[in-house]
Amino acid sequence: MTFERLWSDLAPVGRSTASGGYFRQPFGSAEREAHAWFVEAATARDLRVETDGFGTTLAWWEPEGADGPAVLTGSHLDSVLDGGAFDGPLGVVSGLAAIDLLRARGVVPRRPIAVAAFVEEEGSRFGLACLGSRLATGTTTPEAAAALTDRDGTRLGDVWADVGLDPSAGSPWLARVGAFVELHVEQGRDLVDRDAAVGAASAIWPHGRYRFDVTGEANHAGTTRMEDRVDPMLTFAMTALAANKQARLAGQRATFGRVDVAPNGTNAVPSRVTAWLDARCSTDEGLQTLVAAITEQAAQRAGRDGTTLVVTAESVSPAVTFDADLTARLVTGHDGPDWPVVPTQAGHDAGVLAAAGVPTAMLFVRNPTGVSHAPSEHAGTADCLAGVEALATSLERLAG
Ligand SMILES: [Zn+2]
Repeated sequence: MTFERLWSDLAPVGRSTASGGYFRQPFGSAEREAHAWFVEAATARDLRVETDGFGTTLAWWEPEGADGPAVLTGSHLDSVLDGGAFDGPLGVVSGLAAIDLLRARGVVPRRPIAVAAFVEEEGSRFGLACLGSRLATGTTTPEAAAALTDRDGTRLGDVWADVGLDPSAGSPWLARVGAFVELHVEQGRDLVDRDAAVGAASAIWPHGRYRFDVTGEANHAGTTRMEDRVDPMLTFAMTALAANKQARLAGQRATFGRVDVAPNGTNAVPSRVTAWLDARCSTDEGLQTLVAAITEQAAQRAGRDGTTLVVTAESVSPAVTFDADLTARLVTGHDGPDWPVVPTQAGHDAGVLAAAGVPTAMLFVRNPTGVSHAPSEHAGTADCLAGVEALATSLERLAG
């Protein structure tokens, strides 16, 4: 009941009436409303609210006598552009609901438990995914993050100041964390195929974001002869096809999902095309090989088109393996079969904390279609409740 109520309270925030998808970009009005909802829900539960210098917010359950390394759960409230309802919020809502469940059962943990709402997990506004956890762990410096700009040219540093954040405060909560368990909707169909409502993650594939800047010469679409053009769109078009082909051949993933064209006029040969490649592979070497192969084909095509190509790696995250002992403690010893342990191709704050040495596990809740980052992303209520139960059990095991 508590899960359903929390879920229905949060559901309208940032939802597009046109598509049914979500637009919760970091520090935008919808995301701030979701953040305020989290603070209110935590306060209503007598949880102590702590916001760090970058905007990540934690709700602390610190019963009398609870001490030692804390157990952290939670996820994020921001979304991709036109994203689904579950990616992120499911983990935050389930964290609060799991605390309600433990309290209803009279459980008093020996260690503090906290629910986190990480800021800017998707990188949908400032381009760098898992920004809150990267800043907390020092993977990204506050100076570098402050200089990031959104599509309107607004600096993140200015946004921090506008909302009253003080980045020099850092993320003092991290030092208290002894273990992290992030619950997340599955972004594939592994659990569907295994007929399991809940599973755990074994590892995250290495992944990266690469900006391809192709420069040509703007000219008239009518009067410029075809053989006289220096058209960066052609270089990009071939590069997109090459990315798809190379990824297919290697059994990996490559996507151009974002393109910026200048001057973006119907009757003009463009002067510049900027496109972002998202690439993911099962190994770090595979990722390097894949991106090198795509870059090589793009460069060859640029040579034929007379265009200039510059490729910049905006972020690269190596493979992450979750804590096998911690995961084993969580997936066994239940009524029924052990929870399956499956890999994922999606990045998460859990991956950043794991890479920084925090003992970390992830729980997945079944997604019937496997669709994610789109309005049709889904998890059934019964599966969500199974997720809350699984998370509560996990927190109880870790916090005593
Ligand atoms: Zn997510």
